[in-house]
Amino acid sequence: MVTEKMYDKLAQLVVKKGVNVQKDQPVIITAYLHDADFVRKVAYYAYEAGARYVSIDWRDSDLTKMAFKYGTKEVLSEIPQWQYDKTKYQQDGGACYIHITSDKPGALADVDGEKLNIANMAYYTKMADLMSYTMNNEGQWCVVGVPSLEWAKVVFPDLSDEEAFEKLGDAIFAVTRVSEDNDPIEEWNRHDEELISHSKKLNEYNFRKLHFTSGLGTDIYVELVKDHIWVGGGCTTPKGVYFDPNMPTEECFCMPLKTGTQGIVYASKPLSYFGKVIEDFWLKFEDGKVVDFDAKKEKETLAQLLSFDEGSSYLGEVALVPYDSPVSKSGILFFNTLYDENAACHLALGRPYSENIKGGNVMSKEELAAHGANDSMQHEDFMFGTEDMDIDGIQEDGTVIPVFRNGNFVF
Ligand code: ZN
Ligand code: ZN
Repeated sequence: MVTEKMYDKLAQLVVKKGVNVQKDQPVIITAYLHDADFVRKVAYYAYEAGARYVSIDWRDSDLTKMAFKYGTKEVLSEIPQWQYDKTKYQQDGGACYIHITSDKPGALADVDGEKLNIANMAYYTKMADLMSYTMNNEGQWCVVGVPSLEWAKVVFPDLSDEEAFEKLGDAIFAVTRVSEDNDPIEEWNRHDEELISHSKKLNEYNFRKLHFTSGLGTDIYVELVKDHIWVGGGCTTPKGVYFDPNMPTEECFCMPLKTGTQGIVYASKPLSYFGKVIEDFWLKFEDGKVVDFDAKKEKETLAQLLSFDEGSSYLGEVALVPYDSPVSKSGILFFNTLYDENAACHLALGRPYSENIKGGNVMSKEELAAHGANDSMQHEDFMFGTEDMDIDGIQEDGTVIPVFRNGNFVF
């Protein structure tokens, strides 16, 4: 059972280890209305850590649905200048961002897909040059989850409300490494070290490509960019502030060469995309681009995701996650990428992380493209790792080195 003390520890963990709030730094929190109690705790510890101010962007799925139902396409396609200015002001002040997720998976399933697409496109276009602040880790950011009843009922539809909520809460706190009697910050320091050591070995091997196979039918080669860097554990801002952007995190991730993916990949978990859930899908790649695909559910949504812009049918991330990670061991499908991506190896369509290439953080878009990096306004992870997944690393001279056998690291 999740106790008040554990919520307290989680709030401290997010402030101290998640974003690592610095003296005099603005803290921006996005959160759902039903999490107000937890938000107060986070704000309290942020002020205690020296936050200049704490500002909350409140969300509510019912209000969002209303806005889409009654809003015309014209209204939805217009992102006001003040919204841009507000974010710019926060970033100029050196803010850090905490996102507290707890919404119901598929909350926007009934929303008109075209309207959703129009609004997303408008938002990403308007805010395009502000995206690099978090994508390039110029400032600290952290995504963390807390249980909600609406979410719990989707994950455990057969349980009573009370049981479902308790079970989801237990799972979330366990995979976030917070318990009644541990020191979560200590725990996270140790965990970060382990992820860093896996990344270090992958970097030493300096593979040209990886070959993934699984019983689901996946048989895919993912070529990496030259001078790539595997990253695991936390990140560091240009000012030297270490932070953990995802809680939980179990991945070591890298940058695929835009035109270097060949073969077929079968997703091993559903993909939640702007409130819709795409299920049982596969993608076929030729020279990096998705050339064919199918899905048993929400094929139309998958088509929209792939055709969002030029880069959204190419890969931007490849990530290795051991099958025996705590998220995977929980056996729970959270219907939320923050958790589910840490249960299995995944790929992301769209924008890459510039930290995955040497000198990438100071490269222009054109320079990144010249190094073979993909570019897109979106970044969408999907899971394909399985219990029987094998991965071979292939070096420049053709040497093949086993990386995963039966879902876990060999080294
Ligand atoms: Zn990832
Ligand atoms: Zn990702």
